[in-house]
Amino acid sequence: MKPAIKVLALSGGVGGAKLALGLSRLVEPGELAILVNTGDDFEHLGLRICPDLDTVLYTLAGVVHPEQGWGRADESFGFMDELRRQGGPDWFLLGDRDLVLHVERTRRLAEGERLTQIMSEFASRFGVASRLLPMSDAPISTLLETDAGALEFQHYFVRLRSIPKVQKLHYAGAAQARPTDEVLDLLRSRSLEAIIVCPSNPYLSIDPILAVPGLRMALRAARVPIVAVSPLIAGRAIKGPTTKIMNELGIAADALAIARHYSGLIDGLLVDEIDANAETLRALAQTGIRVGVTRTLMKTLDDRERVADAALALAAEVASARGAGTGTAYPSAAPIDARSVG
Ligand code: GDP
Repeated sequence: MKPAIKVLALSGGVGGAKLALGLSRLVEPGELAILVNTGDDFEHLGLRICPDLDTVLYTLAGVVHPEQGWGRADESFGFMDELRRQGGPDWFLLGDRDLVLHVERTRRLAEGERLTQIMSEFASRFGVASRLLPMSDAPISTLLETDAGALEFQHYFVRLRSIPKVQKLHYAGAAQARPTDEVLDLLRSRSLEAIIVCPSNPYLSIDPILAVPGLRMALRAARVPIVAVSPLIAGRAIKGPTTKIMNELGIAADALAIARHYSGLIDGLLVDEIDANAETLRALAQTGIRVGVTRTLMKTLDDRERVADAALALAAEVASARGAGTGTAYPSAAPIDARSVG
């Protein structure tokens, strides 16, 4: 029998996968599920490409490129070299080994398999004990309205290097999508103890997940603490266009904006110690969200575990403050430097 899921993480790609890896090392094998954004997915060269799912898969499998945080460490690019020679579109890098997943996924989808089943089998073939769950089996595409016109996510992010100014975001196809039975069953299960929103881009990685009709409500209805980790440190993103987009949308890029963005969803927010000044903490306390503080920069494996531990500890605090008496099964394995202020 499969182990019961105790922790559900919501994740995009590189930033989310870092924390997902940390979480996977703190729970027993098989007790973590990761609900992954598929709004970045797209059709390219006739293939269905799911960058965030594959990034989380490669990270948890220990085969991810350590500096990039995406793609595989042990990779060759014979296909790309030849594609370039043939004058094909070469703006999206596809390694030879990586390509196998896209080809296999496309073949199996065409045969009528669901993305959830396909990813589950990929995960077990890679020896990944955690469950990888697409946010939906229906295609949803993050579209950005920009000063360069409407752009699919990968065209904005990779081809145009996030240069166009973002005016608005849409999640095309979301209205017709639904959460999978696997995700709904998990959220109804009594074993679930905490939901962690990884420090992924709120607009490009987490909002598409929340745009799946019914999912946001199902997350709340699970009645377990929901804790987010801020993707910003001292008002800056570690990587990618998070703060650029916030600025363009007229939102101040700080921890308070992240708390407000997730207001109504989260019970707790873990912020970086650099951001834990009295003024910010006071403003955060007024949101009613419980705040944890730690060093949230995840460079090493120890960092990933430490941030994961602090997020789970904050979830446990929320649970005990509710007086639910259930607590989480994850008292800190290591000394915690998360201080509660909310
Ligand atoms: P993508 O889909 O590959 O762009 O990745 P995500 O959306 O999952 O993550 C991007 C976000 O992760 C950015 O906003 C980064 O600031 C954030 N991020 C990346 N590394 C770290 C880290 O070590 N600590 C924190 N707090 N945030 C991080």
